[in-house]
Amino acid sequence: MSGPTEPDNPAQRLDARLAPGLAQREAEGLRRQTRTFQRRSATRVQWQGRECINFCANDYLGLAADPRVVAAGEQALQAHGAGSGAAHLITGHSPEHAALEAELAEWTGREAALLFSTGYMANLGLAQALAGKGDSLVQDKLNHASLIDGGQLSRARLIRYHHADAEHLDQRLATAPGHRLVMTDSVFSMDGDIAPLKQIANHCQAHQATLMVDEAHGLGVLGPEGRGAAAEAGLGPAQVPVFMGTLGKALGGFGAFVAGSRTLIDYLQQYARAYVYTTATPPSVAAMVRAGVAICREDTGPRDQLAARIAQFREGAEAHGIPLMPSRTPIQPIRVGEAAPTVALSRALAEAGFLVQAIRPPTVPAGTARLRVTLSAAHSEADVEALVAALATLWK
Ligand code: PMP
Repeated sequence: MSGPTEPDNPAQRLDARLAPGLAQREAEGLRRQTRTFQRRSATRVQWQGRECINFCANDYLGLAADPRVVAAGEQALQAHGAGSGAAHLITGHSPEHAALEAELAEWTGREAALLFSTGYMANLGLAQALAGKGDSLVQDKLNHASLIDGGQLSRARLIRYHHADAEHLDQRLATAPGHRLVMTDSVFSMDGDIAPLKQIANHCQAHQATLMVDEAHGLGVLGPEGRGAAAEAGLGPAQVPVFMGTLGKALGGFGAFVAGSRTLIDYLQQYARAYVYTTATPPSVAAMVRAGVAICREDTGPRDQLAARIAQFREGAEAHGIPLMPSRTPIQPIRVGEAAPTVALSRALAEAGFLVQAIRPPTVPAGTARLRVTLSAAHSEADVEALVAALATLWK
């Protein structure tokens, strides 16, 4: 017979098995928690009864609350209903999805594009479909978790090179077996710096390796018409045959896509399991993203506004001796070091009405905990000024 504290049914046994892992996170001060925020406007959220300025979102152009984007979603919701009801290959692919894919292909200068339900899934699908046993997946050490996880799924050999180090990539490629697929973030999500894409592309060319670039944080923000960091570096489909972008950040919507040759897209439709075996995003989501893409292409105003806010933040923070990382993107991390003071700073900022995420291990290496400030075109000059003033006070 089990004692009163011993698990005696499968549910209790499972909980007992999980409890030490939770306790460990707790003891290390690294337990993550979901909090609930009510959005009030593009930059304001209600949290625990207080209105805060949001400096944590990836809504870099302020499109998530743009009335044109919201109206496009509402109209499509009325026309098509709520859910897509099925996977793309069954009956989930609506005219909104089809039009969005065509527009994404045109925007990125590729023959075709394929929608995935999230960026996480697009990266899993790409790695799994394009690399297999005997191949090499060669990745930047600081790539997003979804690329690393895709590497595990693919069963290819996962080879990592030092962060943003094209020479180390060159060395790695020299000995990597099989077909070599190089995968890199264009803008690194926790550091805000940009991969040396031109040099990376040159090494890929020299070693006959395929280059995939994840433009999650570059699309909409960098390059002509917001086409991303690779376009800004002058790289097109010949150098970057596999282009991946997400739609839930600067585009203000949700989802992701891969763009490339017609053959690549046809192949992914057959073999990318994360594409085949999942429900298509709602048509209203595709309609919202179409509106976001149109704004992004036609209107340089939000990008200019964003650039001004980034410059203002860096200037202000540097004037107060706040240690920034080398980034010219909307991701502006502040180096702190240990997890506990980083969390304390984030809490104190929230008390003062500023939401800034504390980033701790295991998301980043031990000893490199940081505050991750993200800026948006929707922030006003006064918003950024107020954040810098609050940071300056706390930093002392
Ligand atoms: N790639 C990168 C570089 C990212 O930062 C993220 C999201 N943070 C993703 C992929 C995943 O995208 P999604 O949120 O659409 O799943």
